[in-house]
Amino acid sequence: MSLHGHCNCNAVQVTLKELPEGDARQTAHCRCTTCKRDSGAGGMYVTIVDEDLVEIDDPTEAKKLWTDNLTESGKPAERWSCGNCSSPLFARTPNMPSKVIVRMGLFDDIPPVVTEIYMRNKKSWEPAVEGAASIEGAPY
Ligand SMILES: [Zn+2]
Ligand SMILES: [Zn+2]
Repeated sequence: MSLHGHCNCNAVQVTLKELPEGDARQTAHCRCTTCKRDSGAGGMYVTIVDEDLVEIDDPTEAKKLWTDNLTESGKPAERWSCGNCSSPLFARTPNMPSKVIVRMGLFDDIPPVVTEIYMRNKKSWEPAVEGAASIEGAPY
């Protein structure tokens, strides 16, 4: 299964060449405080894939890096977004050096969420994703 998506202004195209099945971390709902602020909502849909499975097409060099030193995991993370429209694109963390954390909101159709992480941040009135595994903090 491959997915093709883009940021809101179309400057950056993102392709997931393959989405391996069966890894519990592949489709997650991340409720960390950064994803909340990035999304303006309760969290963000993400998937963690090997870096060679992600293709970024950015002909105008629109993507922009922010080094996040305030992560909940305590280790600095690279957070990439579109410099034109601010859509969150992907992130990288030294906890998983060869992996890319892709923001699944880029794609129209995504596989169902199998894991929710940083559940300790879930508001009492927010529903959990039915059938998804629940992890209080980080998945690693
Ligand atoms: Zn954009
Ligand atoms: Zn997050």
